[in-house]
Amino acid sequence: MSEKSIPAAQLSDAEKSLLDRVEKNKDAIVELLKDLIAIDSRIYSAEQFCDQKKIFDFVENYMKKIGAKCERYSCPHPFRQSGTEQEWPSLVATIGQEKREKALQFCGHLDVVPFTAEKWATNPLSATVKDGKIFGRGASDMKGGVASSMIAIKLLAESGLPLEGSLRMLFFPDEEINCDYGSQFMASNHKDAINAPTIIAEPTGQPPLTSPALIIGEKGYAWLRLKFFGASGHGSMPRPRSNAINKATRFIAGSKMLGLPKVKPPMSLMNMLRQLLGRISFKTLIKIAKAPPVESPDPYNEDGLGIGNLFKTTISFNQIHAGTKINVIPDSCELEIDIRILPGITIQDVFDAIASYCTKLGFRLKLPDAYANLQAKNKRLEKRPVDVDLSIISTALGTFENLDQPVITLLKQAFEDVYGVKAVFFFAPGTSDAVSLRSVGIKDIVLFGPTGGHAHEANEFVEIDQLVSACKVYLLVAYRMLCKKI
Ligand SMILES: [Zn+2]
Repeated sequence: MSEKSIPAAQLSDAEKSLLDRVEKNKDAIVELLKDLIAIDSRIYSAEQFCDQKKIFDFVENYMKKIGAKCERYSCPHPFRQSGTEQEWPSLVATIGQEKREKALQFCGHLDVVPFTAEKWATNPLSATVKDGKIFGRGASDMKGGVASSMIAIKLLAESGLPLEGSLRMLFFPDEEINCDYGSQFMASNHKDAINAPTIIAEPTGQPPLTSPALIIGEKGYAWLRLKFFGASGHGSMPRPRSNAINKATRFIAGSKMLGLPKVKPPMSLMNMLRQLLGRISFKTLIKIAKAPPVESPDPYNEDGLGIGNLFKTTISFNQIHAGTKINVIPDSCELEIDIRILPGITIQDVFDAIASYCTKLGFRLKLPDAYANLQAKNKRLEKRPVDVDLSIISTALGTFENLDQPVITLLKQAFEDVYGVKAVFFFAPGTSDAVSLRSVGIKDIVLFGPTGGHAHEANEFVEIDQLVSACKVYLLVAYRMLCKKI
């Protein structure tokens, strides 16, 4: 799809020569990405994962060869026996001078999601180059972005241009689960080592746009486990009111009455449309709205794209476990729910909504001790046993950046200079390592990275041209922020 171009950039000779270096190093980016894909770093869950040490050793060696100072951190694994040397590594690699006031960092996660090899046309752990694309697990999410940012640092180091501050790269091991052992561990325990404006090289392509977007905010989440209690019995004598599965399904079926907290979304639909019209024509936009370009639509999907979800807090019921035998009424049922919250909403707000909803259903709710329970003075419910015990699996608050911060401004300019189209700022429904960094007050964080396709699916790929363009943008931002102009 063609995008509206803007007037060509006015680049200095030094900038032109830096961008030229990237063109000449196209093969180096491809080779590095191939090496990264070949190291298996799959994560299934917090209990099941490939040891991340191998891929961290690889990037540490690579960064040391560039001349970067490398600091390795280690978060002990909570599920493994002590003494088994299991650790979750994080790495901070730095070039230039350690001046706090002038620092920029790139950031990437090295873990990837699992795959089913039979569904792939190529070997997911051995990168295949075809038609200007690289296929392999992690090519898009996000070993591609990692390779582009590592090469940007390498080229700046090799240019010999003196740095007036420091350029860092943060590597994290567990973004595909919930960042607890990587960015969250670092933010909570080693904030000083990672406290700088940050560009996270996640893939930020937003189909149907051809060039990536810049993501400046994300929803938070409350991942909760609700345990429903009921009375067991013989299946021949049903207990529709006290069967724990029935209780859980009442909770799900009535959830339209669950008034999730409302706030004004940080970005409106109108704002998004206005930005899109800076990139594509009105005619194209209407065409896309009528028939979204979906490669292979799922015949079971009756919900469509769900664009509206971006502008509100949402709930999805994603796991349920109950029952032991066909003729036994279950006395407990565990339901796991995924609530995605807009910036400005707290976890207490979410719990207040759930407490009010449980009161409507006539369920007594137990919340974790640290939270207030709206049912506290409800005399009628006080007499009941606990119907629902709510526990937290993981939570994070939603975030949104101001547009007028130094790195976001530099990135916007560098993006437009390299891609020749207007930058588009978006708000993402998912989360990334940005949420951990912002949770401890680190500011000026933006996501931007090379676009590919099929992230988290079979036949994941990244386009080589996008790797090169992203590398140019990273290099321009670093140069403009950290080098004396000549
Ligand atoms: Zn990712």
